Amino acid sequence: MLKKINVTVWNEAAGNQAAYPEGIHTVIANFLKGNEAIGILRTATLNQPYHGLTPEVLEDTDVLIWWGHSFHDKVEDEIVEQVRRRILKGMGLIVLHSGHASKIFKTMLGTDTLQLRWREADELERVWVIEHNHPITVGLGEYIEIPKSETYGEFFNIPVPDELIFISWFEGGEVLRSGCTFKRGNGKIFYFAPGHETHRIYDMPPIQQVIKNAVKWAAPTEYSHVSSGHHPESPESIYKKNCV
Ligand code: ZN
Repeated sequence: MLKKINVTVWNEAAGNQAAYPEGIHTVIANFLKGNEAIGILRTATLNQPYHGLTPEVLEDTDVLIWWGHSFHDKVEDEIVEQVRRRILKGMGLIVLHSGHASKIFKTMLGTDTLQLRWREADELERVWVIEHNHPITVGLGEYIEIPKSETYGEFFNIPVPDELIFISWFEGGEVLRSGCTFKRGNGKIFYFAPGHETHRIYDMPPIQQVIKNAVKWAAPTEYSHVSSGHHPESPESIYKKNCV
């Protein structure tokens, strides 16, 4: 039987998310609830001790979902460091929307600034699927259409992604690499741009589908022993000793 995926949904706070009085973390946790692939489902917020990310919670989390906007600087460096180490050991990270400027995303991508072009114009966003044969796009059509979205655009100064999963077009003319994957150590990272706090985009089934798919994709993979470093004996001599 496949191991269930333990998910923690992190959100900075509920108070400043206009369209989501219950908090974006609650909405995301609610649509993940009941998913047969998911085991323990937790939420965590900035104002909790350790921002809700105690060593025990991090150790028991397979995939961490991150939503932040106004309080990136309030996240303690020590917690960011603990999250970074856990990702390198294999925990998946899904960074949503304005989380592009979070400390943890910048740390994992190895840069001090992550900026993009943006404006609040309530424009149509068309999120084009670039990788059709990919676990993150299972069940989607050619594109997802978001009737009113916050406009994000290039230039987005991320390092070149490992995979470009989505590109968004906005009716004002901008385009954005809106779905990107990165691997760091044993951890898989997915950035997904839609999710502004003034429109209930997280109620949209295709958006929920992307996040559900991404949880499965980002979960740690079981792998057998991996060798590196100094090996005085060659694989050939070990084979001969044991098998011939
Ligand atoms: Zn926003």
